[in-house]
Amino acid sequence: MYKSNNLKISCFFLTIYGMVLTGSDFMLIIGSHVGFKKDSQLLGSLEEALSYNSNTFMFYTGAPQNTMRYPIDDEITLKAKEIMKEKNIDYSKVIVHAPYIINLANNKEKEKYEFSINFLKEEVARCEQLGIKYLVLHPGSHVGLGVEEGIKNIINALNIILENSKVTILLETMAGKGSEIGSNFKELKKIIVKIKNKDRIGVCMDTCHMNDAGYDLTNFDQLLNYFDEVVGLDYVHCIHINDSKNEKSSHKDRHENIGFGTIGFDTLINIIYNDKLKDIPKILETPYVVKNPPYKDEIEMIKNKKFNKDLKTNLENS
Ligand code: FE
Ligand code: FE
Ligand code: ZN
Repeated sequence: MYKSNNLKISCFFLTIYGMVLTGSDFMLIIGSHVGFKKDSQLLGSLEEALSYNSNTFMFYTGAPQNTMRYPIDDEITLKAKEIMKEKNIDYSKVIVHAPYIINLANNKEKEKYEFSINFLKEEVARCEQLGIKYLVLHPGSHVGLGVEEGIKNIINALNIILENSKVTILLETMAGKGSEIGSNFKELKKIIVKIKNKDRIGVCMDTCHMNDAGYDLTNFDQLLNYFDEVVGLDYVHCIHINDSKNEKSSHKDRHENIGFGTIGFDTLINIIYNDKLKDIPKILETPYVVKNPPYKDEIEMIKNKKFNKDLKTNLENS
């Protein structure tokens, strides 16, 4: 009796607060990367996301490691959009990731550089056809040309691709593996300032990459303030939530399941529930355990804010 009264009172206060301070209710937008298959397309991606209890998702329009792509079926897209409406999924926050073999930073081989530009143009067109708003892109690797040359090439390519684009390209914060550009916020800023179509450029943070690049995630508010000074928080439209197999500053980029890596559960929970990122989709790109996707369990753990140390062993044995 006492308990239920208490519940009623706190619900009442929550309602009042919700009306007065609209920011007081935290609506978690969370999902993972999912497949996108030739036959089922967006509908298959959505079904996979729903099976993990996600309310958003990210997909590659084909295999991430190649540029083989099939035509988009508008009827399937329409059907998927209807279901999303029913399920209260905000489609404007569903993300596409560009294949990672695209490299806009290196123009040593003209043909490869032009291929990357043209492929990305087609990818933007596919996103437009799907009605997707955000396309995540790895800025690229300069492969010996040097950071400044690499940045120049990225700017040139993006200005061509974004000229009449309805899609916003989100540059991902990188781990700094090899000659990757974008492991330093200042490099992202250098690119962004030179993009003519400012409404179509943004950033996707990645927790594993930022850790591996050398940023301290334990005081995330401080890091967000720093990012705001250097780049501007308004540019962030997505965050990849991954733990890391390696220490801070390792420049390795190997994702680990939530709570099983060097970043740790509590730090990741703090990031996920940070008020400044509350409207931004959180996407898991953590590894499968043997052949089992971990996302349903990881999302449950995140919603409960309670680490499940048996998650991996359970998945191994299932
Ligand atoms: Fe990525
Ligand atoms: Fe990522
Ligand atoms: Zn990564």
